[in-house]
Amino acid sequence: AKAEGRGIHRFFEPAMDVAVQTRRGVELDLRAALAERQFALAFQPFLDLSDNRIAGFEALVRWHHPVRGVVSPAAFVPIAEETGMIVPLGEWVLRQACREAARWPNGVRVSVNLSPVQFRSGDIDATVIAALRDAGLDPHRLELEITEGVLLQDNASTLAILHRLKGLGVRIAMDDFGTGYSSLGYLRAFPFDKIKIDRAFVADLSVRPDALAIVRAVTTLADSLDMTTTAEGVETEEQLSHLRGAGCTEVQGYLISRPVPAEAVAPMLAGECGE
Ligand code: C2E
Ligand code: CA
Ligand code: CA
Ligand code: CA
Repeated sequence: AKAEGRGIHRFFEPAMDVAVQTRRGVELDLRAALAERQFALAFQPFLDLSDNRIAGFEALVRWHHPVRGVVSPAAFVPIAEETGMIVPLGEWVLRQACREAARWPNGVRVSVNLSPVQFRSGDIDATVIAALRDAGLDPHRLELEITEGVLLQDNASTLAILHRLKGLGVRIAMDDFGTGYSSLGYLRAFPFDKIKIDRAFVADLSVRPDALAIVRAVTTLADSLDMTTTAEGVETEEQLSHLRGAGCTEVQGYLISRPVPAEAVAPMLAGECGE
């Protein structure tokens, strides 16, 4: 039975399955999935190291496919970007994340990933404003995570949009910091509120001493630029203690919690208060 189970799993391996389909097929699949409400959000908390309390949750999209089961975003976000389906999907994510967050206690933030493609679509700022208004969410409680890809597109309007959103009180985070070619240059291009230190650097903390020097340099730089830092992918107590020592503002990772379904957020926050 075990061998059989493994065989079935391999047959429906999401990445493989997606790879053999045509782009058009996947696009149609995604479109149908959106209409049929097959997407859901998982929420992963990030912890403020100054008081060890949950500062907010990052919304991560999941595809509950009727046949393939839960498909990870790595398997469909790139195709959703190529086909443009990320625009309606991203809008759904944004609206759903704001609606959920509006039910959380007032200080708790929600963080939403934005694709560069959503910026090219033109009216992302109007979409954000409408999502906040319809959910009744204070803009200060929303963070938007963008990668350097957003600033890579040589587009003056991208910067204008980011400034407009920041002006509303929305916080802007640079995601996956350190993985690109000129991350430092991007810190000059836009006044981010938060830098997310990529989990590759966090993973290295346990194995190579120079990784700590890099993390310290990033937190020092962030401090002097009036930005906060969030370390991603924290999995061990050892990494956590290094990150505390390095003056990181927030931590996120399996050590604190895996991404959880929306219904699990309130109990997690309640459990925290009871501690
Ligand atoms: P990301 O924004 O860098 O998100 C962090 C990813 O690392 C998530 O994977 C999360 O589940 C995973 N992770 C968190 N803690 C740990 C840890 O301690 N160890 C390890 N090994 N992994 C950890 P996920 O949910 O599969 O998302 C993958 C990527 O897909 C995200 O990377 C993001 O780039 C993209 N994505 C997810 N949701 C959305 C969305 O709504 N819109 C867009 N545009 N992209 C999204
Ligand atoms: Ca992210
Ligand atoms: Ca990241
Ligand atoms: Ca990433």
